[in-house]
Amino acid sequence: MKEKEIQEAINSHLETKLGISVKDASNRDIFIALSCILTEKINVDWKLTQEFYDKNNEKQVYYFSMEFLLGKLMKVHLLNLQMLEPAKKVVKKLGFTLDEVLACEHDAGLGNGGLGRLAACFLDSMASLQIPGHGCGIRYKYGLFEQRLINRNQVELPDYWLKDDYVWEHRKPDESVEVKFGGTINMKEENGRLQFYYENAETVRAVPFDVPITGYNNQTVNTLRLWSAESSIDAAAYSQNELPQYNDYLEYKRSIEQISEFLYPDDSHFEGKKLRLKQQYFLVSAGLQSIIRSFKTNYFKSLSEFSSKVAIQINDTHPSLVVPELMRLLMDEEEMGWEQAWSITTQTVAYTNHTTLSEALETWPVDLFSSLLPRIYMIVEEINERFCQNIWFDHKQFRNEIPELAIISYGQIKMAHLAIVGSHSVNGVAKIHTDILKNKEMKHFYRLYPAKFNNKTNGITHRRWLLQINPELSRLITSAIGNQWKERPKDLIKLIRYAEDPSFQLKAKEVKTYNKQRLARIIKAQTGLIVNDQSIFDVHIKRLHGYKRQLLNIFHIIYLYNTLKENPDLDIIPRTFIFGAKAAPGYYFAKQVIRFILSAADIINNDDTIQNKLKVVFLENYNITLAEKIIPAADVSEQISTASKEASGTGNMKMMMNGALTLGTLDGANIEIKDMVGENNIFTFGLTSDEVLHFYHHGGYNAQDLYQTDERLQSILNQLHDGFFGNDEKDFKDIYYNLLSHNDEFFVLKDFNSYEEMQEFVDQTYRNQQKWMKMSITNIAHSGKFSSDRTIHEYASEIWKVSKSPVFSR
Ligand SMILES: *Cc1c(COP(=O)(O)O)cnc(C)c1O
Repeated sequence: MKEKEIQEAINSHLETKLGISVKDASNRDIFIALSCILTEKINVDWKLTQEFYDKNNEKQVYYFSMEFLLGKLMKVHLLNLQMLEPAKKVVKKLGFTLDEVLACEHDAGLGNGGLGRLAACFLDSMASLQIPGHGCGIRYKYGLFEQRLINRNQVELPDYWLKDDYVWEHRKPDESVEVKFGGTINMKEENGRLQFYYENAETVRAVPFDVPITGYNNQTVNTLRLWSAESSIDAAAYSQNELPQYNDYLEYKRSIEQISEFLYPDDSHFEGKKLRLKQQYFLVSAGLQSIIRSFKTNYFKSLSEFSSKVAIQINDTHPSLVVPELMRLLMDEEEMGWEQAWSITTQTVAYTNHTTLSEALETWPVDLFSSLLPRIYMIVEEINERFCQNIWFDHKQFRNEIPELAIISYGQIKMAHLAIVGSHSVNGVAKIHTDILKNKEMKHFYRLYPAKFNNKTNGITHRRWLLQINPELSRLITSAIGNQWKERPKDLIKLIRYAEDPSFQLKAKEVKTYNKQRLARIIKAQTGLIVNDQSIFDVHIKRLHGYKRQLLNIFHIIYLYNTLKENPDLDIIPRTFIFGAKAAPGYYFAKQVIRFILSAADIINNDDTIQNKLKVVFLENYNITLAEKIIPAADVSEQISTASKEASGTGNMKMMMNGALTLGTLDGANIEIKDMVGENNIFTFGLTSDEVLHFYHHGGYNAQDLYQTDERLQSILNQLHDGFFGNDEKDFKDIYYNLLSHNDEFFVLKDFNSYEEMQEFVDQTYRNQQKWMKMSITNIAHSGKFSSDRTIHEYASEIWKVSKSPVFSR
């Protein structure tokens, strides 16, 4: 669309739909007008894409995920439809600024962190690579809570993201399906088949809301289908035996709507609540019914071809009920026999593992599970029975492992085992993570089914995380190597020629400084703090978790502070430490760490004697939109998880792509970043995952010894214990005891020395700006490998067996 067209469309929208003229319009009016213009254009391509897929009988991919952390979408659509520049000009001409207009969109925060953002990046890459791939999720009424920091405490507010209407969604009531919970199952033999009847089951109406997912410059529009729970029967039908009670009805309606009410705010932590299991089955059952329905209406094919036309990827074990639910639908509804249904199910489903943390493993008590999902439980029992029989008779060498491998044991259902047994592919999300799955966490399964296991290192969409959030750097890259990197991110490697080019270095440095100044203004506006844009911006942004070790970072900051107090003239490069992190509301220790960082920040930021050499900033409400503002300004990317604990990480990739240097442990995808850039272009430190795992198995680490021998640690720990950080001094004793009495589960003290040494080396390196900029440009040049386009290519060719399906050959 050209400028003139956009301008006319905005004017016409304001006049005819809102009855106002431009001079009376608000930012939000312009936002709505733009969204309508985009929606009209997108809808045309959406319909064409659907018709094209139908006509060509293309295999469809469905990505099932309990989370989609989309963030804002307007800029994505403008970019994809080649309308960003003209829209910017028109909006300016009308007296507005595009950034302020775009800010009117509420973040779609239907996810906790990395796992949900991965799902969003995958949707973007599937559409941009012209792969027929769709998302299947839940339309939570409340997304991830909004974080406020009040008196140094995290306070959670509900995120009612739908309050102004969500402009991208389309409610499709005609495509609703029913999902049943509870009750009892009656079996009858009819025409030689067992039929299953539900008695007293609760029936929930699942209503889909479709969100278009546009591809970059290619007319492909795929679908993210989000399900919402509504009560399916009217008041009169509700109570058959008694007079309908209005209050009962309202309560009933509320209890149904609860299913899609809110996102569980736990990252990497399993919460065995009945409502969560309900959400999972709701997603899976509604999603599968809708897939089967469209399969049947579009192809009129027998379901025996299902697995050649449908691939289902499950994002962690949360949607692993797809296995028994697909079995149920194929057998009970489609009258298929067990063997055929099992073969179709396992050939359709593929499972992605996201963590080896034991506290994240999903296991459901049989009692809860069987009462909520009686028919599904029967099927899971049968899957388990047949699986164990199969080992006993056909894999005799594994007989002793049956108790460990079984899906149901000691009254618990192990969802990971169900997902592995019921799928044809099990993948980890970074090389080291997949190796740990194969050799440790799932070693028996790996020996049993070696061919199922594979690696798919995560990625991020370079369109959002570079092109969109860092236009200045993008322009600089394009001026050097041309436009092709936008569609072929591996082309970024051409930048390597410029790594030592003084003029390119200077320009890259100017871009970084510009982005730091922009972030400095945001920091000033949000916190009142003035930070030095010549200081090193040292960034630690991610969920707050013990294994991510924000504690190690703040310990080092306090060490620097203590050192400066003794020697204020110490020659260090000024640093601005920037944190952003939400703690799960029930995660006491994580909330203590937030309090601790904020308390230390107060002391450090207000101490005149250290000559402004250190500033500590904790930005409130870390989410996609805030990440987009911080990442282009990062000099140092803190990726300091306890080795073996972070499956992949994707924040590491976003910052690398924007020219930050990684200071990290040999964990997750940090290792692959190091493999790409070489060890001279990354700062690594700390225990290796083998060493960590060895300590866990064989002992040999004593945190008390370090307290006794390392004076730096002793000072900090004593400060914690003695109330140096003020407020309620008993608070930080919990951290003290966590480290010393509980032997420092995440090796914070153990890795302190090597972290501190590497931080000193970061300081030394920054003094040589030619070297630093060379490292920075080298990182950008190698970041193409971490585009989710590469990841999706691998899933498509190795797991889904789908290929590119260009809606139109341009
Ligand atoms: C990328 C991203 C994450 C994941 O970050 P990690 O450092 O990999 O844990 C979490 N939250 C948001 C908002 C993100 O954009």
